[in-house]
Amino acid sequence: MTDPLSAALSALLSRHHALSDGQVADYIPELAGADPSDFGISMVSVHGRIYNAGDAEKPFTIQSVSKPFVYALALSELGLARVARHVGFEPSGEPFNAVSLEPETGRPANPLINAGAIVTTSLIAGDADAGFTRIREALSAFAGRALSLDEDVYRSEASTGDRNRALAYLTSSQGVLARPANEATDIYFRQCALEVTATDLAVMGATLANAGINPVTKRRVIGEDVARIVLSVMSTCGMYDHSGEWMVRVGLPAKSGVGGGITAVLPGEFGIGVYSPPLDLQGNSVRGMAALQDTSTRLGLHVFAPATEARTAIAASTMAGNTLSLWLRGELDFIAAEQIARHIHDQVAAFPIGLIALDLTNVTAVRPIAAELLAATGTDMTSRGVRIEPTDPSGFLGTRPGVVRPPPSAG
Ligand code: GLU
Repeated sequence: MTDPLSAALSALLSRHHALSDGQVADYIPELAGADPSDFGISMVSVHGRIYNAGDAEKPFTIQSVSKPFVYALALSELGLARVARHVGFEPSGEPFNAVSLEPETGRPANPLINAGAIVTTSLIAGDADAGFTRIREALSAFAGRALSLDEDVYRSEASTGDRNRALAYLTSSQGVLARPANEATDIYFRQCALEVTATDLAVMGATLANAGINPVTKRRVIGEDVARIVLSVMSTCGMYDHSGEWMVRVGLPAKSGVGGGITAVLPGEFGIGVYSPPLDLQGNSVRGMAALQDTSTRLGLHVFAPATEARTAIAASTMAGNTLSLWLRGELDFIAAEQIARHIHDQVAAFPIGLIALDLTNVTAVRPIAAELLAATGTDMTSRGVRIEPTDPSGFLGTRPGVVRPPPSAG
């Protein structure tokens, strides 16, 4: 029996299958053989559940979808400050293979255009083989399975990729490339020729959505901070010179590749992988973009469209004698903590309260801002002679800073 979400994904593919615009990339000769009718989609939740439709298991080369993940590896190995000496964070507004370097620093504008991606690749330690091995292992950890190299696509790009070689020499002349130009491009061509499926791209995206822990293997691949930086850059630069419109219309951090793949992410919720080879003039998959825009609009997935219905973090509030008891629930973010602080303040102003029993047993996470606000409320109450007694089995209030998360749940 097909589950409802996979059925919805199949219906989505049917709605956009007839779209026949775009051309399969042929500037890398080996890519020209892709079947333009291939169309697959996969969605993977941060709980690690996988929903597939169409050609979700068909292999193709990752191409530029590798870039944010190699950037993540460089950030993990070297830290933001060192990486930022070589490559920036600004949208270039230019095509993927543009000759685009910041005039003052000589850095490529961001790691998702080719110049920036080649510089990022050059930062990975080891000789050419060791560097590529690290990249392959990192991308495999994101995908949750060992990825292999499509030798034909690699050789095809290596024998025709003069523009990328030119970008490498140019960045080298600016002093921002960290290894010899021919080595950097060789590793970059191999990285782009790693074979993935739409499901792999969804798992990779879900790992970013899940703050760096692969939700299928449960392994931590990168730190929370690195996941946040990568998603930020994807949201501003991921779709090349279409990035602004993409954010307006779809509103999901994403990265496309000329193999026809796109990874899109709803932070905290899921990753999506789409595969359809015909590309628009910017090098983005035409059906992939249509499917993602449709999904985002129908399902209300835009990152800047939060749920607006009333919600409360206070599951119950009772008064007995001079004791106020509050049972809290869910994730405590700013708005939840503000509501709790306000409620405590109002109750203490209205009634002779001596003790507040604060039950966090059903709280799932506490954001730093919420921990701050609750601590400040505690100090305020102490100064008024009111004691706060938390029941906090997960120790949320004691561990700061950073988003405090419970251990990963089974489902
Ligand atoms: N390997 C391709 C190139 O460097 C990747 C481009 C892309 O996927 O956008 O030209």
